[in-house]
Amino acid sequence: MPCTAKKFECQRPEMASARKELNDSKVTPDVDVVLTTKELAKMIKRAGIDFPSLPDDEYDQLMGTGTGAGAIFGTTGGVMEAAARSAYYLITGQQPPAALWELTPVRGMEGVKEAGVNIPGFGSVKVAVISGLANARKVMDQIRAGNAPWAFIEVMACPGGCEYGGGQPRASSPPSDEVRYRRAASLYKIDTNAKLRNSHDNPQIKQVYADFLTAPMSEKAEELLHTHYISRAEALVAKKSDSNLY
Ligand code: SF4
Repeated sequence: MPCTAKKFECQRPEMASARKELNDSKVTPDVDVVLTTKELAKMIKRAGIDFPSLPDDEYDQLMGTGTGAGAIFGTTGGVMEAAARSAYYLITGQQPPAALWELTPVRGMEGVKEAGVNIPGFGSVKVAVISGLANARKVMDQIRAGNAPWAFIEVMACPGGCEYGGGQPRASSPPSDEVRYRRAASLYKIDTNAKLRNSHDNPQIKQVYADFLTAPMSEKAEELLHTHYISRAEALVAKKSDSNLY
């Protein structure tokens, strides 16, 4: 994982769906442990594994087939671009046009980006992409004021997205948009060269829906793939004994 926050997230109560279903607190949670990319790299080094000398092999199944849409999740705007491709398909029944394979208005390192995604029979769907948590406040203020035209908002807490998340290897130069652009360019290249560009074309995702989740937004999919947040603002208020610090 690129993200240190996932170490906390995997302990959230909804990340123990089997435990909840069986009402048994001893059942193991959905995720056993979260390793960041940096931690995995250290373990590989410590074990003396020399990647170039390893024979090629297949990925483990069921999670071994990826798409270009999955690769660009790693950069700001990537989740939005991937979702736009699948939304187009799910609404129209047609594969997305080439313009949705390079949705340039949501690419780049600006703090807030906007785009209109044209979906025949539906119109222009307005979307927004936020890079870096500080920029979320601007958009949230706009939402509170009732001036938000967007149907879908992507927020990535780390500037540039997960590619420079807390668990990612640091570059030799200080964090900068130049480094972020270079990492993003690699992800877009993986997407461009991928055999499958759309999440909805991934045969293993299709199989999971056919065998288990039934359909996007089904009750099962909502229960297992979606989450809810509650305000924990009160927990952030300084305790009286700490007030001298602020
Ligand atoms: S943007 Fe940062 S905080 Fe959000 S999932 Fe990616 S690495 Fe984690």
